[in-house]
Amino acid sequence: MRRRSGSGGIVDCLFCKISSGDIPAKIVREGEHTVAFRDINPQAPVHVLVIPRTHYADLGELSADPVVLAAVAAEAAEVAKAEGVDGTGYRVVFNTGSNAGQTVFHVHAHVLGGRGLNWPPG
Ligand code: 5GP
Ligand code: ZN
Repeated sequence: MRRRSGSGGIVDCLFCKISSGDIPAKIVREGEHTVAFRDINPQAPVHVLVIPRTHYADLGELSADPVVLAAVAAEAAEVAKAEGVDGTGYRVVFNTGSNAGQTVFHVHAHVLGGRGLNWPPG
């Protein structure tokens, strides 16, 4: 059962706490609907996570809110530009569910770039 905290986030959700500033992160950009911050365990020279401020567990839940879904996608592209990888190329990934290795159940887009990225992924 998910419980809301006073600030509107989900109690015990790490990324709600980053969104509210209760847990520090290296913030890259902030928007009305989104926060972008550096992944604590980067897998590429550029590895930024884009989250909606509102709590949705995964891409399926986020899809019910097309405005915020579009904001997350647009913000991923803006992050790539700001980080200087839009020219060389980058990857945007929503790990969803256990087979994909999702570990934090507040939806996030990984923006990865700054090196060649293998395909298919592991
Ligand atoms: P997932 O595996 O759910 O797709 O991705 C979760 C990501 O969150 C991982 O890449 C992990 O390194 C990152 N992460 C986990 N805890 C923290 C944290 O406290 N701060 C930041 N900045 N990133 C985190
Ligand atoms: Zn959350």
